[in-house]
Amino acid sequence: MIEFTRWEGALQRPGACVCGSQRRPVVDTHIENALGRVYLCELCVTRAARAHGGFVSRDEFDATAARLLQADAANDELQRQLGVALDPANRTITAGELNEWLSQQQTAGGVG
Ligand SMILES: [Zn+2]
Repeated sequence: MIEFTRWEGALQRPGACVCGSQRRPVVDTHIENALGRVYLCELCVTRAARAHGGFVSRDEFDATAARLLQADAANDELQRQLGVALDPANRTITAGELNEWLSQQQTAGGVG
Protein backbone atom coordinates (compact mmCIF):
# COMPACT_ATOMS: atom_id res chain seq x y z
CA MET A 1 0.00 0.00 0.00
CA ILE A 2 1.31 3.43 -0.96
CA GLU A 3 0.91 6.18 1.64
CA PHE A 4 -1.22 9.17 0.71
CA THR A 5 0.82 12.18 -0.37
CA ARG A 6 0.03 15.90 -0.30
CA TRP A 7 0.37 18.00 -3.43
CA GLU A 8 -0.29 21.62 -4.30
CA GLY A 9 -2.65 20.49 -7.04
CA ALA A 10 -4.24 17.44 -8.66
CA LEU A 11 -1.82 16.64 -11.47
CA GLN A 12 -3.65 13.78 -13.14
CA ARG A 13 -7.13 13.38 -14.59
CA PRO A 14 -9.75 14.36 -13.38
CA GLY A 15 -7.71 17.09 -11.71
CA ALA A 16 -10.14 17.49 -8.83
CA CYS A 17 -11.18 16.02 -5.50
CA VAL A 18 -13.79 13.27 -5.42
CA CYS A 19 -16.26 15.99 -4.34
CA GLY A 20 -15.55 17.87 -7.58
CA SER A 21 -13.68 20.72 -5.91
CA GLN A 22 -10.48 21.98 -7.49
CA ARG A 23 -9.43 23.46 -4.17
CA ARG A 24 -5.74 23.17 -3.37
CA PRO A 25 -3.81 21.48 -1.86
CA VAL A 26 -4.95 17.90 -2.34
CA VAL A 27 -4.07 14.48 -1.01
CA ASP A 28 -3.22 11.95 -3.68
CA THR A 29 -4.58 8.54 -2.65
CA HIS A 30 -2.63 6.81 -5.47
CA ILE A 31 -5.89 4.98 -6.17
CA GLU A 32 -7.37 4.92 -9.69
CA ASN A 33 -11.04 4.57 -10.50
CA ALA A 34 -13.08 4.93 -13.71
CA LEU A 35 -12.72 8.71 -13.56
CA GLY A 36 -8.98 8.68 -13.00
CA ARG A 37 -6.89 9.45 -9.96
CA VAL A 38 -8.67 9.76 -6.61
CA TYR A 39 -7.73 13.02 -4.89
CA LEU A 40 -9.05 14.41 -1.62
CA CYS A 41 -9.29 18.11 -0.84
CA GLU A 42 -8.65 19.43 2.67
CA LEU A 43 -12.37 19.84 3.31
CA CYS A 44 -13.10 16.21 2.40
CA VAL A 45 -10.19 14.97 4.54
CA THR A 46 -11.50 17.06 7.45
CA ARG A 47 -15.02 15.76 7.01
CA ALA A 48 -13.76 12.16 6.78
CA ALA A 49 -11.63 12.63 9.90
CA ARG A 50 -14.62 14.10 11.75
CA ALA A 51 -16.75 11.13 10.66
CA HIS A 52 -14.15 8.81 12.18
CA GLY A 53 -14.45 10.82 15.38
CA GLY A 54 -11.80 12.38 17.55
CA PHE A 55 -9.64 14.15 15.02
CA VAL A 56 -8.96 17.84 15.59
CA SER A 57 -7.74 20.76 13.54
CA ARG A 58 -4.07 21.79 13.61
CA ASP A 59 -4.98 24.85 15.75
CA GLU A 60 -6.84 22.69 18.27
CA PHE A 61 -3.94 20.22 18.31
CA ASP A 62 -1.37 22.99 18.87
CA ALA A 63 -3.47 24.58 21.65
CA THR A 64 -3.94 21.23 23.37
CA ALA A 65 -0.24 20.40 23.06
CA ALA A 66 0.63 23.78 24.63
CA ARG A 67 -1.78 23.13 27.52
CA LEU A 68 -0.26 19.67 28.05
CA LEU A 69 3.24 21.15 28.18
CA GLN A 70 2.08 23.71 30.78
CA ALA A 71 0.36 20.99 32.80
CA ASP A 72 3.51 18.86 32.59
CA ALA A 73 5.64 21.74 33.88
CA ALA A 74 3.14 22.40 36.69
CA ASN A 75 3.19 18.69 37.56
CA ASP A 76 7.00 18.71 37.67
CA GLU A 77 6.90 21.69 40.04
CA LEU A 78 4.33 19.99 42.30
CA GLN A 79 6.44 16.81 42.32
CA ARG A 80 9.47 18.89 43.27
CA GLN A 81 7.56 20.65 46.07
CA LEU A 82 6.19 17.31 47.31
CA GLY A 83 9.70 15.84 47.32
CA VAL A 84 10.94 18.80 49.36
CA ALA A 85 8.00 18.52 51.75
CA LEU A 86 8.51 14.77 52.26
CA ASP A 87 12.28 15.00 52.65
CA PRO A 88 12.99 14.28 56.36
CA ALA A 89 15.73 16.90 56.28
CA ASN A 90 13.11 19.55 55.52
CA ARG A 91 10.52 18.35 58.01
CA THR A 92 9.20 20.96 60.41
CA ILE A 93 8.75 19.82 63.98
CA THR A 94 5.56 21.06 65.60
CA ALA A 95 5.46 22.52 69.10
CA GLY A 96 3.36 19.53 70.20
CA GLU A 97 5.96 17.08 68.86
CA LEU A 98 8.74 19.02 70.58
CA ASN A 99 6.89 18.98 73.91
CA GLU A 100 6.22 15.25 73.53
CA TRP A 101 9.89 14.61 72.80
CA LEU A 102 10.96 16.72 75.79
CA SER A 103 8.54 14.89 78.06
CA GLN A 104 9.88 11.51 76.85
CA GLN A 105 13.44 12.70 77.50
CA GLN A 106 12.47 13.81 81.03
CA THR A 107 10.78 10.48 81.70
CA ALA A 108 13.91 8.68 80.51
CA GLY A 109 16.02 10.99 82.61
CA GLY A 110 17.82 12.40 79.63
CA VAL A 111 16.81 16.03 79.93
CA GLY A 112 16.08 18.14 82.95
ZN1 LIG B 1 -13.27 17.38 -1.62
